[in-house]
Amino acid sequence: MTVHHPQTPSTTPVRHTTTSQLTSHGPGQTSSTVLRQVRKRDGRIVAFDPARIAHAARKALEATGVAEAEAISLSVALAVVDELRSEQRPGAGTVAATATGPVIPDVEHIQDVVEKVLMERGQAETAKAYILYRQRRSTAREQQSALMTSLREITFSDARDSDVKRENANVDGNTAMGSMLRFGTESAKQFNLLSVLDPAHAAAHRDGDIHIHDLDFLTLTTTCCQINLSELFRTGFSTGHGHLRSPRSINSYAALACIAIQSNQNDQHGGQAVPNFDRDMAPGVALTCADRMRANMAQSAGVLGADQERQDEVTRLAATWPLEADDATQHAEREKLAEAWPELSAEQVVRVHHEVRTRSVAETERATYQAMEAFIANLNTMNSRAGAQTPFSSINYGTDTSPEARLVMRCLLEATRAGLGNGETAIFPIQIFRVMEGVNYHPGDPNHDLFQLACRTSAERLFPNFSFQDAPFNAEYHRPGHPETEIAYMGCRTRVMSNVHDTSRAQTWGRGNLSFTSINLPRLGIQADHDVDRFMSDFDASIDLVIDQLLERFKIQARKKVRNFPFLMGQGVWIDSAGLGPDDSVEEVLRHGTLSIGFIGLAETLTALVGAHHGQSQEAWDLGYRFISHLRERTDRAAEETGLNFSTLATPAEGLSGRFVRMDRERFGALPGITDRDYYTNSFHIPVWHHIGAAEKIRLEAPFHALTNGGHISYVELDGDPSRNVEAFETIVRAMHDAGVGYGSINHPVDRDPECGYTGIIDDECPRCGRGEESGPFERIRRITGYLVGGLDRFNDAKRAEVNDRVRHG
Ligand SMILES: [Zn+2]
Repeated sequence: MTVHHPQTPSTTPVRHTTTSQLTSHGPGQTSSTVLRQVRKRDGRIVAFDPARIAHAARKALEATGVAEAEAISLSVALAVVDELRSEQRPGAGTVAATATGPVIPDVEHIQDVVEKVLMERGQAETAKAYILYRQRRSTAREQQSALMTSLREITFSDARDSDVKRENANVDGNTAMGSMLRFGTESAKQFNLLSVLDPAHAAAHRDGDIHIHDLDFLTLTTTCCQINLSELFRTGFSTGHGHLRSPRSINSYAALACIAIQSNQNDQHGGQAVPNFDRDMAPGVALTCADRMRANMAQSAGVLGADQERQDEVTRLAATWPLEADDATQHAEREKLAEAWPELSAEQVVRVHHEVRTRSVAETERATYQAMEAFIANLNTMNSRAGAQTPFSSINYGTDTSPEARLVMRCLLEATRAGLGNGETAIFPIQIFRVMEGVNYHPGDPNHDLFQLACRTSAERLFPNFSFQDAPFNAEYHRPGHPETEIAYMGCRTRVMSNVHDTSRAQTWGRGNLSFTSINLPRLGIQADHDVDRFMSDFDASIDLVIDQLLERFKIQARKKVRNFPFLMGQGVWIDSAGLGPDDSVEEVLRHGTLSIGFIGLAETLTALVGAHHGQSQEAWDLGYRFISHLRERTDRAAEETGLNFSTLATPAEGLSGRFVRMDRERFGALPGITDRDYYTNSFHIPVWHHIGAAEKIRLEAPFHALTNGGHISYVELDGDPSRNVEAFETIVRAMHDAGVGYGSINHPVDRDPECGYTGIIDDECPRCGRGEESGPFERIRRITGYLVGGLDRFNDAKRAEVNDRVRHG
């Protein structure tokens, strides 16, 4: 074979070689210079194959349009082999040789030599192509290996030691299905970063400038929805196999509520909320009451020997007797009974009426209590999403004043106080008591007793949280007689109310968040180097980027069809979806949902800029208020310009608070009050470690609720056992109401000894049985970004650090 190489000048003459020549050993070589093995990147040792060098060089030569690529590549490979052999000689002084003899060269080193040989031969273009090829391969390898590291961690480490496995405190990362969920999540994230997202958005996420929440679900679904159960129950619904008819008792109302929440959960990646649980359940109580009146009257009529016709007439009559009746109504009931059943004496009428009524009411109360008990138990035990996760369920109630709805709320609160089967504190549903003047806030309001019971229950069991209908930004949407305009929150603090897509339908029902992305505010603060103007312009650039990214994601979501959401859209849960067919696009109806821009760490941002956070100085507070006002103006403007519901969100950052700070500490070091803790402070909160009174904390945080129309929550931390002082607890709830807070809750320790069943505060020793934790851990229920979590071992590292730092707001 003859090789000509007319185009490119070479510093060495082209040698005539073949592949077989490459592997033969020339004469005079000692064993120490023989090159037989190579160390691969993963550490494996394989046979040295110079043909691979020739192959890679040829690819690079061909890519740069060099003629005779094959021949040149062979000679390059030969030169590389020579070079490597010379390194093998003892005392050669290169990376490959040591005093003890030849060292097996690694792949990276061989590639370095290839580059060097190419350069020496004047193949600069080809060397560049080769370097690029190496870089591409190495990026792909790095990304693949990041994925492999995650998958390895999921496979081989215990959830206690793995943040990946504890990213979400409500998923048990130790179980088979929990791990399978993590496999899917990690793979989908990498895929979306590499192949789906705009590279600028992917880079911003990867670098920690922004955080795209639920990135694994990017191409699949939307966040959450507020379910109007009444509408669902009116016609009955289907969960995929068989139609569930309209429920006929409080028991089936509660059971179907669970099924609806669970079914919807499987269609979305976020939480499910019921905005008017009291109103939705009330008809179930009325049905059970009517059923009990009918049955008890039939029994009495049978005992008293009434004929069939008489029995039918009086049972029909009894079925109309309501759960609650004043004296006049009861008097009328007795008169009608006497009329319908003339054989009875006046005394018998009174007795039968009394018996039927009291027995039926008692049975209805018992049935309602059992239904609420089962509802809570179901939501804490039944799993969705491949069986690894209980549904993120939230229920709002408090404003329906009908006797049936009041019974539902009383039973729900009493069942919550009692706890689960062994007295454990229930983690789901997240309960939200809607506080409203004229309905339950003031003494004398019809549901004031329930407000007080809600305070007592929350003081014992951490739920319910409290939402405030009278806060001006909530009150402005309320239209009396329209429960869909009463404010509702979803557990993770999401709030969906205004509607630029259709202003006549600013409502909760059938709507939810589509997606949200958070900005790493502290990083902008650090980078601005005390220059507020620079901060503002960087902030604007970040907001632009996130608006862009949310629109990109909306376009992906809008390509979905009804059949992609068999329950949410297929059963008409989402607003206006009832009229769509399985192959219809969901784009138009999704426009009712919200796209939210969130933020984290306002406190650290202010510390970076002015040396103090908004709990420490008025100047800092004013500046913080200005920042979040600006974000709100920008989201309002984006909503106006796009016709999509952009909103400002106080981000619930469970996995995120640690991720951002970890990256920023690596980049900027441990800056006091900024990056020196394991977490960034949530949204606009005063830092958990800052000493401040409850009233002052509420006063400082309340104005931020008005700005964050995509959702917010404020917490107050109490020490000790507030169930011993419910008045003090109620005072804090009232302070929140009066300050204009939209949504708040009060944290306090709730511990339980699973061995003796004691519930309360346990320090080192159980006050009841005296045992310590050596013989088995106590349960310690804490609230993490809106959710209750039973046991510190499910918290990720950042959240664990945050819980340890919390100081009480006495
Ligand atoms: Zn004990």
